[in-house]
Amino acid sequence: MSTEPFDVRALIRPDLLELPGYVPIEPTDVLAERYGIAPDDVIKLDGNENPFGPSPRALAAIASERGYHIYPDPDQRRVREALSGYVGVGAERIVCGLGSDDLIDLIMRAVIGPGDGVINCAPTFGMYPFSTEIAGGRVIDVPRLESFALDVAGIERAAAGAKLIFLASPNNPTGNRLSREELDRLLATRLLVVLDEAYIEFAGQHGGGSPSAARLVEQHENLVVLRTFSKWGGLAGLRAGYGVMSKVLAPVLMTIKQPYNLNVAAGVAMIASLEDRALLDERACEITGARDRMAAMLAEIGWITPYPSEANFLLCRLEGVDAVEVKSRLARRGIFVRYFDTPMLRNHLRISAGLERHNEPLVRALREIGAELGR
Ligand code: PMP
Repeated sequence: MSTEPFDVRALIRPDLLELPGYVPIEPTDVLAERYGIAPDDVIKLDGNENPFGPSPRALAAIASERGYHIYPDPDQRRVREALSGYVGVGAERIVCGLGSDDLIDLIMRAVIGPGDGVINCAPTFGMYPFSTEIAGGRVIDVPRLESFALDVAGIERAAAGAKLIFLASPNNPTGNRLSREELDRLLATRLLVVLDEAYIEFAGQHGGGSPSAARLVEQHENLVVLRTFSKWGGLAGLRAGYGVMSKVLAPVLMTIKQPYNLNVAAGVAMIASLEDRALLDERACEITGARDRMAAMLAEIGWITPYPSEANFLLCRLEGVDAVEVKSRLARRGIFVRYFDTPMLRNHLRISAGLERHNEPLVRALREIGAELGR
């Protein structure tokens, strides 16, 4: 027997040992402690969370539920039925999980094996390349154009070497939406098109019905639409998401998922949120209204250019100041925004839309910081 000390790394997949990992945001209490401020004074505009919190009905349902000592329904029957009424497709096409992140992971496990190509259109949500790498897949980069529109022709060229494409609409962090024409061209590539609609409830609120593509799964076998209660529903901490897809793919995900992946509290909160959807829609309207007022105020500052957004955040380009410096000066004032250390976003910050009581101090702080930095 060897007397060498045992190094468990020899047993771990070498590709995982080298994985840089996903850079997550941090919770309020951790930020408060780090910067020596009271948790109530933290202005958290870095996670695209819902400043209103959960719906009152969801909170009441969580409080009155009596089944926490019993395992949840592995078939998620009540929640899938409720979602079926909301989305307008059969429950057999719906799979719920621990946030849409869980669905991203499940789809990867169902479809991607070592070496399989996954198209990623940066700048976008970092979970797509992260989950691809964990599955041993190969990330094929087809960056967005300078306008942040998709390079559809580039995707069409790359499609032959790939199995799947992830697209967020509205996209995080750029805030723009995919058009129906673009979606049709992507579906024609015969890739599995995973359309992530995490922010869709904030889009297209000015009449014209729901802009969601979820019902198109009935016509397109290769379309998966991901939705979440983290943004519109204010349930980010509870982890509640779902996917809408082909009748063939859904049962596969139901089979390979962790049997109890949707916990009892998340399940009752999702159903109650759907019953409270008018209030949640109203709140979404207030958030987008506050977002638009914030965009106007930011644009007046002069060195900040907010991009048009259909989501609950604004991507802002900064001129003549260092974005990392601005972010850290905001943090010292208890205001937290997101910076992405990637080539296309070097001089940008993503700022979640809060309520007026969050957005006004943000704009004031940015004016002060501009003066401090000689702008
Ligand atoms: N998709 C996109 C585009 C997102 O921005 C996020 C959250 N930042 C998610 C999915 C993850 O959502 P969930 O909380 O449902 O896992």
